[in-house]
Amino acid sequence: MAAPVVSGNTRIVGIFGDPIAHTRSPVMQNAAFQACTLRYVYVPFLVHPSGLSRAVQSIRVLNLAGVNVTVPHKEKIVRYLDSLSEEAQLCGAVNTIINRDGHLFGDNTDGRGFLQSLEEYGLSPQRGEVIIIGAGGSARAVLVSLLRARYGPVTIVNRTIANAQVLVRSYRHLGNTRVNALPLDALRSTALLQRASLIINSTSVGLHGEEFFPLAYDITPRNCIFYDLLYRSEPTSFLRGAQKVRRAVLDGREMLLHQGALAFSLWTGTPAPIQIMRRALGRALQ
Ligand code: NDP
Repeated sequence: MAAPVVSGNTRIVGIFGDPIAHTRSPVMQNAAFQACTLRYVYVPFLVHPSGLSRAVQSIRVLNLAGVNVTVPHKEKIVRYLDSLSEEAQLCGAVNTIINRDGHLFGDNTDGRGFLQSLEEYGLSPQRGEVIIIGAGGSARAVLVSLLRARYGPVTIVNRTIANAQVLVRSYRHLGNTRVNALPLDALRSTALLQRASLIINSTSVGLHGEEFFPLAYDITPRNCIFYDLLYRSEPTSFLRGAQKVRRAVLDGREMLLHQGALAFSLWTGTPAPIQIMRRALGRALQ
C-alpha cells in the first residue's frame, strides 16, 4: 500500500492505548481511507494513564475527527466525554470517540462489531444457547449486544464467579431470556455443553499460546460455533480443541474488523469497504 498523501485538509483519527505498538487498526483503517479516497489518516497514540484527560482534551485542541480507545482506557475515558451512546452507557466503556465540533461523543462498537460478524457468518438469534467464558470488559460488550439482539439463553462461566454474577445482575433486564452465572468447572458439564449453539472465549487465556481449560468439546452439538475474541497468527488452543472435533470456529479478527468498520462509518459518514479492510488486516497479522 502506498503511503497516504497528507495535505492541509487531511483529517486525523487514531487510537489511544498503552501499550499501542501491537495495534493493527492503523493498517486496516488507512487501507479503507485510501480505497474510498477519503482525506483521513489514522495514527497510533501511546497514552499513559496519567495523561488520559489531557489526551482527551487534545482531541478538541488538535481538531482530530475522532479516536479509537483501547486497553487500559476504555472505562476511565468515559468521565472525560460530553455524551455517550446507549451502548457505551450500558457497558460503561467507550472504544470510539467522535468529535462533533468540539463535542466529544463516546460510542462502543465492540459489541455491535461482534454481532455483525455473527450475522455475516449466518447466525441468527433463534439458534439456541450461548456460553460466554469470561466476565471482563469484552464479555460485558458482547453480552449487552447479544441480549439486545435477543440471543440466548446465556450462561456466563468465569474463574471468579462473583464477577459473572455482577454481569447477570446488571444486564438480565435487557433481554427476555435467561442469563445465569457458573464457575469454570461447568465447562465439563454435559448438560450445559449439549445445549450450546455458540461458545465464546472472552478471557485472555491463549493470548500467549497457553493451553485452554478442560472443555468437553466432543459433546457439543455438531453445529455449535466456537468464537475466540482473541486473535493470533495461528488458532488458539480453545479453537484448536474445537477444530479437532470438526466444529466451526471464528476468531477475534472478525470482531476487530467489524468494530473498526463501524468506527470508520461513524467518523466519515461513508460505508466501510469491508473486504479491503479484511485483506489489510489479514496481511498485517501474517
Ligand atoms: P478483562 O481483563 O476485562 O477480563 C479478563 C477475563 O479473563 C476475566 O473474566 C478474567 O477472570 C479472565 N481471566 C484472565 N486470566 C485468566 C486465567 N488465567 N484463568 C481464568 N480466567 C482468566 O479483559 P477483556 O475482556 O477486555 O479482554 C479479554 C480478551 O479479549 C483480551 O485478550 C483481548 O485481546 C480480547 N478482546 C478482543 C477484541 C477484539 O476486537 N477482537 C476486543 C476486546 C477484547 P476473573 O474475572 O476471574 O479475573
